[in-house]
Amino acid sequence: MIIDCHGHYTTAPKALQDYRDAQIAGLKDPSHIPAKGSVKISDDQIRESLENAQLKLQRERGTDVTIFSPRASAMGHHIGDATTSRHWTEHCNDLIHRVCALYPKNFVGVCQLPQTPREPLANCIEELERCVNELGFIGCNLNPDPSGGHWTAPPLTDKSWYPFYEKMVELDVPAMVHVSASCNANFHTTGSHYINADTTAFMQFLTSDLFKDFPALRFIIPHGGGAVPYHWGRYRGLAQDMKRPPLTDLIRRNIFFDTCVYHMPGIDLLLKIVPVDNILFGSEMVGAVRGIDPETGDYFDDTKKYLDQARGLSADDKRKIFEGNARKVYPRLKL
Ligand SMILES: [Zn+2]
Repeated sequence: MIIDCHGHYTTAPKALQDYRDAQIAGLKDPSHIPAKGSVKISDDQIRESLENAQLKLQRERGTDVTIFSPRASAMGHHIGDATTSRHWTEHCNDLIHRVCALYPKNFVGVCQLPQTPREPLANCIEELERCVNELGFIGCNLNPDPSGGHWTAPPLTDKSWYPFYEKMVELDVPAMVHVSASCNANFHTTGSHYINADTTAFMQFLTSDLFKDFPALRFIIPHGGGAVPYHWGRYRGLAQDMKRPPLTDLIRRNIFFDTCVYHMPGIDLLLKIVPVDNILFGSEMVGAVRGIDPETGDYFDDTKKYLDQARGLSADDKRKIFEGNARKVYPRLKL
């Protein structure tokens, strides 16, 4: 089985965005009283939104199941307040649940969290419990920067995150470290904010004893780990200077990278640098880069092709990347 650990519902029917637009418009009206309201989408509309997109690509590329979450750039944790975020998040997660119910062999849910800058994580703990216990989700996307590019939150290793980590460990679910859209004009959302956040999270983990406090806590750093594999020597050197454990020990049971790297040399580097036990197949389709690479004639995000072409990857290693590691990191995956 080929498990894609990184897919978003980027093609959700328009009614979802209409809801969000109305919600945001309401924030500008001081007399508006926020209400959760409803998002009217039929099962057929859900089917239509997937059949010619994610499902078509799964079939064409030969992947089996996608670990599926709401569109990350639309999480928009910086918009409105905790109530805004809770209403929006519940609707987004409920829609993912409907996708998974309609296509139980193709999609397994991972939830968005109702994060809000400077708010405690109680809402997120509640929503994680709801999504895992009631909707059958197997993980979450945790935003290290709910401010959307201004980095006002404490590092992921700060004790203020600990109540949330306790719940993750109790439920035995991992988190993908995933920012949302950037509202800082310096950072392009998918081109720099995403990659910065991946790199930043890794460095935060490297400098802390978080995994001594939570030996079972697991994070996936997406987009191939940002700049980390390319600068592995720098991080090894920094770890050594700071008397930290060797990187392979540091990440072994706690930090994993996906394969959302959109060219062969990048995948080659990832496979050469990062231990095979810490790599999970992911494509992030339909997502950040949608076009075809004129140099190869293939879609940039057809990451399965790169793995199939990778030299020196044994059949056993390939099985780990395509399936075994995902099962280890997401033990609630029962397909
Ligand atoms: Zn993503």
